[in-house]
Amino acid sequence: MIELTGQGVYGAIAAGPLKFIKRTTAPVVRRAGEPDAEWARFEAAQAQAIAELADLHAQALAEVGEQGAMVFEVHQMMVADEDYCDSVRDILAGERVNAEYAVSVTGSNFARIFAEMDDPYMRERAADVHDISERLIRCLTGAAGVGIDADAPVIVAADDLTPSETVQLDKSRLLGFVTARGSTTSHSAILARTLGIPAVVGVGELDEALDGEYAVVNGFTGEVFVRPDEATLATVLAAKAEAESRSELLQAYRGRPSVTQGGRQVELCANIGSPGEVGAVLESDAEGVGLFRTEFGFMEHESTPSEEDLFAAYKAVVEALGDRRVVFRTLDVGADKQIPYLDLAPEENPALGLRGLRLCLRRPEIFRTQLRALLRAAAFGRVAIMFPMVASLWEVQAAKARVAEARAELEAEGVAIGATEIGIMIETPAAALISDQLAPEVDFFSIGTNDLTQYTLAVDRQHPDLAEFTDTHHEAVLRLIAQVAANAHAHGAWVGICGELGADLTLTPRFVELGIDELSVAPASVLAIRERICTLD
Ligand code: PEP
Ligand code: MG
Repeated sequence: MIELTGQGVYGAIAAGPLKFIKRTTAPVVRRAGEPDAEWARFEAAQAQAIAELADLHAQALAEVGEQGAMVFEVHQMMVADEDYCDSVRDILAGERVNAEYAVSVTGSNFARIFAEMDDPYMRERAADVHDISERLIRCLTGAAGVGIDADAPVIVAADDLTPSETVQLDKSRLLGFVTARGSTTSHSAILARTLGIPAVVGVGELDEALDGEYAVVNGFTGEVFVRPDEATLATVLAAKAEAESRSELLQAYRGRPSVTQGGRQVELCANIGSPGEVGAVLESDAEGVGLFRTEFGFMEHESTPSEEDLFAAYKAVVEALGDRRVVFRTLDVGADKQIPYLDLAPEENPALGLRGLRLCLRRPEIFRTQLRALLRAAAFGRVAIMFPMVASLWEVQAAKARVAEARAELEAEGVAIGATEIGIMIETPAAALISDQLAPEVDFFSIGTNDLTQYTLAVDRQHPDLAEFTDTHHEAVLRLIAQVAANAHAHGAWVGICGELGADLTLTPRFVELGIDELSVAPASVLAIRERICTLD
């Protein structure tokens, strides 16, 4: 058995033979060419590519809706992009070469520019440039596109997949896919999620000798087993069967409010960590984003991201979510989440160290940059700002003062900003115990049960060997949650749970009874919790 681990893109499991996809584009050869004639060939290829992309757009529109199909509109624009076409024309004229070669060089140059950008979203666009260049070359050479060379359904294996390859793959023969490279923010990953294709990306090296081998791809866990042993196969197949029948039944809850029989409504939201996961939020039918872990966006950069980088990412998220609220948690680094360029001193007890809001208060420049980006994004959608790792009242007051300063600055600069709710995470016992004092300061609390449990029970959440001491249902934690809910409500604040405990179906009745207003969970858990809520009295 070979075990590979990557990132699960869509919560489902596929089992079947692995098939490495064949790309039929022949290598591009440099030949001599007469500039006018080659430019005419390029224009014909460009027209064909645009027509193909229009067809793909129509196909994707029917299969995945507007959001998923948008990439093919973008590709049509990219094929006609003035800078791209100018570069092709210049190479044809300057080097007197064939159009395939000019496109190939232009594609590589443009892809490299995108690949070197700081913004992870823009970096992913290198794949789009590569995709349209390959298409143009295929149109020029008359070669066919990507195909699954198999009669029976397979798990597609590839180094990486471009968006149009993902849509073009014949779904009737596609069980799932696994890629060596790629990330959850790539368009192929977004499409896989929207299409409901079980997929794992970024598993590292994929040996083509495994072609034809039986494999299972677990999109829930990011695991791939090639030639699984009997016990592993039985476990994964049982999980697959259960997941499939559950998910079919749960579809009935799509588009419904999360409300008990007695009429008590809970807002059911999703937790995400990157703009690329917005598709999963929409697909899950979540009512908003209850926790956007912004630190992952910082981790993808090699140096502190600029206000523009952050603004672009946050704006994309709120725009995609329309009138649904997005709760952005401000930078929560330290402890297990380290960012090398912040040059934080090593700590004896990092979980009790300079983390979360403490770090932002110590590094006002980073905090200011992020707050400005958030306030600007709020002009385009519903933004809530939430501070992590609060222990004392003064920290909340100081953080609010930083928000007020950023707001005043932007107003003075005449920059468009929007209204935001302000909230805090309750994840230290101290914050829970003084939640009566904290509530008047904020619009909402969101209880981070992962850290609240760690700090209340004094059990390191990272420790691999303390499972028996980590009672997630410990009465101490549940009492703190009850106390926090009561204090929030007494002061007119709403209260949510965004830690893993929010998805614990055995506790849903208790949370509803406590009057928890919002639960925020992984997108894949949304419908299961809605079902649980809807069946409560
Ligand atoms: C938590 O602590 O419960 C939480 C949601 O935050 P994180 O898991 O990111 O620390
Ligand atoms: Mg936490």
